[in-house]
Amino acid sequence: MHVCVLGSSSAGNCTVIWEEHRALLVDCGFSQRYISRHLRPLGLTLREVEGVVITHAHADHVLPQTLVGFLALRIPVHAPPSILQVLAEQCRDVRKVQGTPLLRSMRTVSTEIGPFLVNAFPVPHDAPGGCFAYAVHLDSLTGSAKATIATDLGYVPDGLAAHCANSHVLVVESNHDPVMLAASSRPDWLKDRIRTIGHLSNEQSGKLVRDILAASSFYPEAVMLAHVSKDCNTNARAVESMALALRDHGAEGVRVLETHRHEPNEAVSCFRTMNS
Ligand SMILES: [Zn+2]
Ligand SMILES: [Zn+2]
Repeated sequence: MHVCVLGSSSAGNCTVIWEEHRALLVDCGFSQRYISRHLRPLGLTLREVEGVVITHAHADHVLPQTLVGFLALRIPVHAPPSILQVLAEQCRDVRKVQGTPLLRSMRTVSTEIGPFLVNAFPVPHDAPGGCFAYAVHLDSLTGSAKATIATDLGYVPDGLAAHCANSHVLVVESNHDPVMLAASSRPDWLKDRIRTIGHLSNEQSGKLVRDILAASSFYPEAVMLAHVSKDCNTNARAVESMALALRDHGAEGVRVLETHRHEPNEAVSCFRTMNS
């Protein structure tokens, strides 16, 4: 199983997880053309996308025109019922496919999408319909792999670290540097929103990853730092902060990878844990 963040920031988010020629997208906050163009070098096309999972109904995670394009290609859209309801209220083309297999409500703990099993976990964020972190599992005779994606959360809720434990790849947001945020020209209400119900700082992200490692029986191959703020952070600061957190935990061997606003990051393959 492989993971690549095709792009991540407040300007758009989309991650692809794939195994051979079966792919799953988490979020579709870019144009269909952008997603399609960046799937190609990975050896994938939209025809091989077996579903798209939506974390929440903010436009940087779900662009209505992309969603409508995916529905036209008969790519099923998966999300908890509260999010599907919001998407249907916002978009006539989504309303039209309500009650059809193209809109799939994630009501159960585990949802099967192609070869993957996806588990949703609610996280605190100011999006209508709520916001969810997803753990994507692939189990086969040769072993199992897990990738977890947690972006857009104001703070780390109880239980999230356990939900993310034993992942081969972690995609976590490392949104802002608190000093840069305080010094930025953003209005006070926006600074407060980011700190309380918006996004994790570099330090909060480091603590989350340390807690995930403490709950895990092995270390991940890589931690990918997502949703890095353009004005209130830099990739270098985010990477340095995460590297420090990993060193504190004795896990300096774990790779820390940047993500980018408008280009894919380095794809990582999950080396599977053998089934016992
Ligand atoms: Zn976002
Ligand atoms: Zn958001």
